[in-house]
Amino acid sequence: MDRPRLFCDSCGMRMEESGDHGGGKQDNPYCKNCCDETGVLKPKSVIRETLIKFYIEKYDYPKTAAENFVDDFMATMPAWQNKQEKL
Ligand SMILES: [Zn+2]
Repeated sequence: MDRPRLFCDSCGMRMEESGDHGGGKQDNPYCKNCCDETGVLKPKSVIRETLIKFYIEKYDYPKTAAENFVDDFMATMPAWQNKQEKL
């Protein structure tokens, strides 16, 4: 059996428990925040908005700074690295 992944391939969140994985599936490389309730990864635009909101609320980033940060960050994540999905 493969070891469960520890970090979400989409947003980088640490997944401590099986319930933190999308759809509650331990082999899901994405966290529950990035997936719908069945464990399917949400569209990039949805996750981008969620992350931007998170950095604005949690770290008090100005909106444009949060947007730039999230765009750079997501470009390094396995889920989005090679995707050309339009926003
Ligand atoms: Zn995630």
